Amino acid sequence: MNNNFTVASVTLLASNPPNLVSGPLLAGFGSGSGFPELQFVVELDGQQSSKFDLRTTQLYRLGAFQSLCVSEGSETVKERTYSKGITIQFEDEEESSAFHGAFEQWKSNAVTQGLSLPNGTVSSSKSKFDDKIEASSAKMYFHYYGQLLHQQNMMQDYVRTGSYYAAVIENKADFAGRVVVDVGAGSGILSLFAAQAGAKHVYAVEASEMADYAQKLIAGNPSLGQRITVIKGKVEDVELPEKADILISEPMGTLLINERMLESYVIARDRFLVPNGKMFPTVGRIHMAPFSDEYLYVEIANKSLFWQQQNYYGVDLTALHGTAFQGYFSQPVVDAFDPRLLVAPSISHIINFTTVKEEDLYEINIPLKFTASVGTRIHGLACWFDVLFNGSTVQRWLTTAPGAPTTHWYQLRCVLSQPIYIMQGQEITGHLHMIAHSAQSYTINLTMSAKMWGPGAKQGGILQTSSCKLDLKEPYYRMSQPQAYPAAQDQQPDQDLKHPSLADFVQQCSNDSDVQIL
Ligand code: SAH
Repeated sequence: MNNNFTVASVTLLASNPPNLVSGPLLAGFGSGSGFPELQFVVELDGQQSSKFDLRTTQLYRLGAFQSLCVSEGSETVKERTYSKGITIQFEDEEESSAFHGAFEQWKSNAVTQGLSLPNGTVSSSKSKFDDKIEASSAKMYFHYYGQLLHQQNMMQDYVRTGSYYAAVIENKADFAGRVVVDVGAGSGILSLFAAQAGAKHVYAVEASEMADYAQKLIAGNPSLGQRITVIKGKVEDVELPEKADILISEPMGTLLINERMLESYVIARDRFLVPNGKMFPTVGRIHMAPFSDEYLYVEIANKSLFWQQQNYYGVDLTALHGTAFQGYFSQPVVDAFDPRLLVAPSISHIINFTTVKEEDLYEINIPLKFTASVGTRIHGLACWFDVLFNGSTVQRWLTTAPGAPTTHWYQLRCVLSQPIYIMQGQEITGHLHMIAHSAQSYTINLTMSAKMWGPGAKQGGILQTSSCKLDLKEPYYRMSQPQAYPAAQDQQPDQDLKHPSLADFVQQCSNDSDVQIL
């Protein structure tokens, strides 16, 4: 890991006015003072350098090349130290992400070494997982997966489980005589498949209470079970007696990245996999295309009509209409839609699980560029994903595309509160920017633009731009609503959804008096 970086310039925020120091300047990580620190070598006002104690320092991205480094001040009986901050300008994006990677690494070392914090407490957290995920989120998450009914829901998604089974059995050569780690084993089903394919030994790592049921299931299949060891704990924390030749896992959430389990999969790779070992799945792709769906748009816009009442028991509700309207548009819609709603060929973003760095998943920015196949009103961006099992014998894709047999992931749509108008052949540009948050999900910022058609179009035209901010943690499960589009293939109507908080799902169903939950 690189410990020294050259940055373009820094601005010291504590001085008044803020003091810009142009570089190139040296910034280095070290632990010379007995604790991890970050030092900027600047010669200013007689001050030789500016040091940050990483135990109390946070680093924020302000832009692709610019970050903010802030250290907390403290107050004791004897002395008061003030917070200090510095903005850093990097040469390029690569330098910025390498710097962020090193920062996270040094900071997490500060915690894992159990160094005492300034207020005298010793951090009890030792795991990379606990450092970045809120305890309340993790508690609900593992409680959810600790219940058999949710494991059953995933097992009953035959597209999903059948694809895993085929990928393993068709690629026996990758499993026979090999050491396998099942990352987030749940019921242990994938470990049992690996044992069926002749694995020498499978380590089934599962953090939730499901580990105990997996143990039972495996004991109930003794001919396979004797080659499986269940380990209860997080892949970030547990130790294994040997390295794995192949990892198997089902870490995909809505839009591939929801739940942030891909990060655990990558951490497991770095901790347990032999160099050049295999990963099942190997690669994931997020696919995106603009869609037009007047019916969906009106449905969402109408949800906030309630707040337009001026005499609700004598109370004018309209003050909250705007907030409610935005609120409904901040929920990504999860359902299975007819692929004919797509109005341009899709593009994709590839995540290679064998090479991606954990930090690369903290922030994903996808530039969008489409050519409209028809003239229409665009209501937003439709997304789905697929994963590849790159077996030595057979390569198999598991897809969640619209029009393909429906899975429990369905598809996801980000709906714009302000639709945009396009003509056939016109270009649609924008960005899908996703930032991970500590509740095991992502904040999504979507921007879509198209040139306005009509007079002046040839001279460059006026740009229509529409943006929205969504929380992937709070989707609108539209499958529980009456369906507008008859599905071409068999649905799985009484299936629960993965990753949803169950509470949301039940709430959704109970909101809808037309739907009966059986
Ligand atoms: N492999 C099973 C379950 C997949 S669901 C199957 O395919 O049917 C994902 C599972 O991973 C859940 O049971 C969840 O509790 C577990 N999990 C998620 N993050 C984990 C982590 N960091 N360490 C260990 N288990 C984890």
